[in-house]
Amino acid sequence: DDWIINGSKQWITNSPYADYAVIFAVTNEEMVKQKKGGISAFFVETDAPGYTFDGVLPVMGHTGGDCGSMSFDNLRVSADRLVGPLDNGFQIAMFGISEGRLSISANCIGMCEYALDRSLEYSQQRMRFGSPISEYQAIQFMLADMAIDIFTMKYMVLQTAALVEEFPKTGRLPVKEISIAKAYAVEKTQECYDRAIQVHGGMGLTNELTLNEGFRIARTLRIPDGTGEIQRRTIARQMLRGDTAF
Ligand SMILES: Cc1cc2nc3c(=O)[nH]c(=O)nc-3n(C[C@H](O)[C@H](O)[C@H](O)COP(=O)(O)OP(=O)(O)OC[C@H]3O[C@@H](n4cnc5c(N)ncnc54)[C@H](O)[C@@H]3O)c2cc1C
Repeated sequence: DDWIINGSKQWITNSPYADYAVIFAVTNEEMVKQKKGGISAFFVETDAPGYTFDGVLPVMGHTGGDCGSMSFDNLRVSADRLVGPLDNGFQIAMFGISEGRLSISANCIGMCEYALDRSLEYSQQRMRFGSPISEYQAIQFMLADMAIDIFTMKYMVLQTAALVEEFPKTGRLPVKEISIAKAYAVEKTQECYDRAIQVHGGMGLTNELTLNEGFRIARTLRIPDGTGEIQRRTIARQMLRGDTAF
C-alpha cells in the first residue's frame, strides 16, 4: 500500500531547515492529462531514505528564508501519509498558495508604511536651496502617491481577508480578489520603494536606511506565489467564468 515518489522540486522556502515536507506528486497521469486532478499531497520526513536536499539557491531580496532544491529517488511513503483526498492535492496546494498570496500582500503594507515614514522624516530634515525638500511639490507628489497606494493596498487586503474569513459561510474563496491584491500590492511596493529612494537622493541608495534592501525584496515578491502574469491570468479566467462581482 506504499507510494514510491521520484522527481525533484526547487525554490522551496525554508526547505534547508525543514524536518517535514508536504510533497505534491502525480498519482494519476490520465486525470492530469484531462486537467481533472490526479495530483496528491503526502506528508514526508525529510530524513527518509530517498529524500535528498540538494542545496540552497541564493536569491536576490529573499533575506531570512533560504530557498532550496531537493530530489526524490524511490522515496517510499506509506498510504496513511496521504494528506486530503487522493488525486485532489492541487486544490490543497491552491488553498495554501492563496493564503501565501494574501500574506505577501499584507507584508507589503508594512513595507510601504516603513518607506513612507522614512521619506516623511527625511524630506522634512533635508535642506536644499534654503528649504526642507518637503516644501517642494515634486517631493510632495511622491509622498502623496505613496500614501494613495498604501491606502488602496490596505483596504484591498482587508476587504479580501474579510471575504476569506466569510468562506466557511459563503463557500466562495475570493480567488479573483486574492490575485488582484497580490498583483497590486507587490507592484505598488516596488514603485513605493523606488519613490522612497528618489526622495532620499544618494542616501536612498546606501545601506543606511535599508531602502535598497526593501527595493530588492519588493522586486523579488513579484515572482513567488504566482507571478504578475499568472495573477492576471487568474483574474481574467475568473471573470470569464462569470465572477464579475466587485
Ligand atoms: C524567493 C522565492 C521563493 C519561493 N518559494 C517557493 C516555495 O516555498 N514553494 C514553492 O513551491 N515554490 C516557491 N517558489 C517558486 C515560485 O512560486 C515560482 O518561481 C513562480 O511561481 C514562477 O514560476 P517559475 O519560476 O517556474 O517561472 P515560469 O513559470 O517559468 O515563468 C517564467 C515567465 O513566464 C511567465 N509565464 C509562465 N506561464 C505563463 C502563462 N500561462 N501566461 C503568461 N505568462 C506566463 C511568467 O509570468 C514569467 O514571467 C519561490 C520562488 C522564489 C523566487
